[in-house]
Amino acid sequence: MEYYSEKISRLIAELSSLPGIGSKSAQRLAFHLLDMPEEKVKKFTDAVLDAKTNVKYCSRCFCLTDREVCPICSNTNRDNSIIMVVESTRDMAAYERIGKFNGVYHVLNGVISPMLGIGPGDIRIKELLLRLQHEDVQEVVIATNSSVEGEATAMYISKLLKPAGIKVSRIANGIPVGGDLEYIDEVTLLRALEGRIIL
Ligand code: ZN
Repeated sequence: MEYYSEKISRLIAELSSLPGIGSKSAQRLAFHLLDMPEEKVKKFTDAVLDAKTNVKYCSRCFCLTDREVCPICSNTNRDNSIIMVVESTRDMAAYERIGKFNGVYHVLNGVISPMLGIGPGDIRIKELLLRLQHEDVQEVVIATNSSVEGEATAMYISKLLKPAGIKVSRIANGIPVGGDLEYIDEVTLLRALEGRIIL
């Protein structure tokens, strides 16, 4: 991008390193930022830095939050006897948006993927087992995505939990194979939850 001066090129390069942002979008965003009043740009960069500095994992469910214990885990109206296991904070948000699940979550922050060298020890499975030892849990609903890795992770967890005598279920089909939970419509998500299968 030699036709832009160095500082503009640098901004475009940084923006295009974001997921889903190609070189054209990066140029559009860069010029949009340059057009914005300085204080608006500062608000934007402050928000990015503030989130990056202060967002951490909830000490109980491992979702991303700016509190020690996230709002869902600290809500006394939630049913602590049912835990939904999801891959990411975004998947948790997808289920929260439909507002029909009143249990609590456990966020793995990834899936087992031998191809990418991600093993069970690299995601929050130990932490789930630890929770099950200390909390009075009746059911674990595994809501990983229906990708190959999501299914393998679900199988792995269900095999681990079965001997402990805890009811383990898997969200039903209806989620397209390889489908990303966060992009699925609410009706499908709800149907998948209600039609969950006991493993
Ligand atoms: Zn939490």
